[in-house]
Amino acid sequence: MGRLVMKFGGTSVANIERIKNVALHVKREVDAGHDVAVVVSAMSGKTNELVAWATETSPLHDAREYDAIVASGEQVTSGLLAIALQTLGIQARSWQGWQIPIHTSEAHASARITGVDGEEIIKRFKERKEVAVIAGFQGIHKTTGRITTLGRGGSDTSAVAIAAAIHADRCDIYTDVDGVYTTDPRVVPKAKRLAKVAFEEMLEMASLGAKVLQVRSVELGMVHNVPVFVRSSFDKPEDIDPRGTPPGTLICSEEEIMESQVVTGIAFSKDEAQISIRNIQDKPGVAAAIFGPLADASINVDMIVQNVSEDGTTDLTFTVPASEFPRARETIVKAQSKIGYAKLDTATDVAKVSVIGIGMRSHAGVAAQAFAALAERNINIRAITTSEIKFSLLIDAAYTELAVRTLHTLYGLDQA
Ligand code: ASP
Ligand code: MG
Repeated sequence: MGRLVMKFGGTSVANIERIKNVALHVKREVDAGHDVAVVVSAMSGKTNELVAWATETSPLHDAREYDAIVASGEQVTSGLLAIALQTLGIQARSWQGWQIPIHTSEAHASARITGVDGEEIIKRFKERKEVAVIAGFQGIHKTTGRITTLGRGGSDTSAVAIAAAIHADRCDIYTDVDGVYTTDPRVVPKAKRLAKVAFEEMLEMASLGAKVLQVRSVELGMVHNVPVFVRSSFDKPEDIDPRGTPPGTLICSEEEIMESQVVTGIAFSKDEAQISIRNIQDKPGVAAAIFGPLADASINVDMIVQNVSEDGTTDLTFTVPASEFPRARETIVKAQSKIGYAKLDTATDVAKVSVIGIGMRSHAGVAAQAFAALAERNINIRAITTSEIKFSLLIDAAYTELAVRTLHTLYGLDQA
């Protein structure tokens, strides 16, 4: 007997029939003797609709009211699932974020969880075997008493935070994919599902565009060491043996991964733009003059590459999300006299391809192999950055698929 959090995303609770199906998944675990807390998203499409309503009422609206509106989607599904469980003869009760409570910061629409009280839920496990059905995505700011939401995709984070608070053995994320793959299977049909991936690797993959989980949920899992299991909600509840090992990916601490490969996965993003500043005076304060104004404008800078100068001037290249590109360019143009540069080169048709693996810590020459393989395919590399467990390459967007496939094969990730 153990304690589980089961999280179901929007597609899994998209209509009443699917909610009844979720109830069967929950019943299976309850029947196996587990204490269960369920975290639900809003019905798929619901949050988008609510956001659109807020925007339609006024494009510039009060974030506190935005949260009051968008939190309602999860309130509905938590109540519905509680009823569906009760109908199956299972003790169940719905909980809104404020009722638990899930305390958050005051950053409306993108609040961070600051604390979760799991006492009452645990008490009810013990006293009445009651399943807690918790509305994901929402919390409360203690001082103001207002409802907050955690940012899009936030119910993953709710689920992991609840799991930590009730000392769950595992947090199961039921979703419309059956796990985390070595890369996007739509680009590389030979992509493999990973049995296990380390928190750190998943953090890189998630932030690089493997959109399985909200990044914050992985951070929380890592901090509290909550194993997170990504699995499909489309498997029929009756086909699953609660004591067996279902297909899926376990995101866990490094120590639990025995035979790790050097490279675990390849992530990519076409949503990138490159800005190169040419012939900057090479003197102290120049980088600050460039990145200060960008930070002030809340523009997220990603790759930064600077040359070592010879003649007193240097080139500096960085990337920003494509959506931020016009603002970023404007910011740099405005600061031209202060930075002191000759010319600006930009490109928006670029992509970032990243190779990730904790094995890189102990293996040399991993990136060099990639450079050779891409050269053979005539793919030009515009910029390179590296970290302990990852390296990223900026290339022309047109070559993204070819590059990803080439690297996937190169590092032995293709399915047999
Ligand atoms: N319903 C929210 C959203 O669509 C939260 C979630 O599903 O995780 O972003
Ligand atoms: Mg999601």
